[in-house]
Amino acid sequence: MKNNNQTVIITGANSGIGKKIALAFGAQKANVVVNYIVDESSADDVVTAIKDLGGNAITYHADVTDLEACQTMVKTAQSTFDSVDVLVNNSGITRDNLIIRMKETDFDQVIDVNLKGAWNMSKSVARVMMKQKRGNIINISSVVGIIGNPGQSNYVASKAGLIGLTKSLSKELGLRGIRVNAIAPGFIQTKMTDALDDDVKAAYLQQIPLNAFGKAEDIAHAALFLASPKASYITGQVLNVNGGMI
Ligand code: NAP
Repeated sequence: MKNNNQTVIITGANSGIGKKIALAFGAQKANVVVNYIVDESSADDVVTAIKDLGGNAITYHADVTDLEACQTMVKTAQSTFDSVDVLVNNSGITRDNLIIRMKETDFDQVIDVNLKGAWNMSKSVARVMMKQKRGNIINISSVVGIIGNPGQSNYVASKAGLIGLTKSLSKELGLRGIRVNAIAPGFIQTKMTDALDDDVKAAYLQQIPLNAFGKAEDIAHAALFLASPKASYITGQVLNVNGGMI
């Protein structure tokens, strides 16, 4: 399951799941573009860690809601490392509330980052990958994008949308040797889930047959697999990594 010398762009790679995906590719000697939006020093730390593991990496500041910034990030990846082999659309935010209390801006922001951001990045890499006649796009969706969740109508809509995006792009780009898949994580321990109340966490735990929350590494392993030749006949799929939740 080697991904040597591949160039991988990971959005939101300075923390949580994105960081572990970046380190996993770095450990396989990939060239990694570590995208971030706020915290430059944590992105610098990820680059240092990747180099220590024998990979190569650069940081890249870009807001995925900005199409032009996404296109420039892809151009930079290509000019620095010669190709763009893998895109992991990982950036994501939550603005949870019941629909009667949710502000319109909370809906718009979540859709903009989680769904439009992935579309912006996919659009930006599509031409490059089509010319290469190879490539992999991996969208980080969520278990709730499949089963729904009260208080998360914006987030769930974005994550269900990512599944639709995955399936459409797999059909559009397959002939050019580009595979497009999604990973639907369950409850993974990161700063996004650390923010939840203890009673909410306890309720989630009761729904998990393996009786444990997932680790960011569990998602990184799934991403490595989907990007590898071992998954060469897999496209348009949603890989559930959720301890048996659904
Ligand atoms: P996290 O630690 O909060 O990571 C989110 C990342 O997105 C951060 O690196 C953040 O950058 C970046 N980001 C936010 N807005 C951005 C923007 N406009 N442009 C570029 N990057 C932006 O959360 P996580 O738990 O690792 O989540 C990673 C992905 O997994 C998300 O898509 C999330 O929805 C999904 N997911 C998580 C779980 C879970 O249980 N944790 C479950 C299912 C799915 P800064 O740090 O610089 O703000």
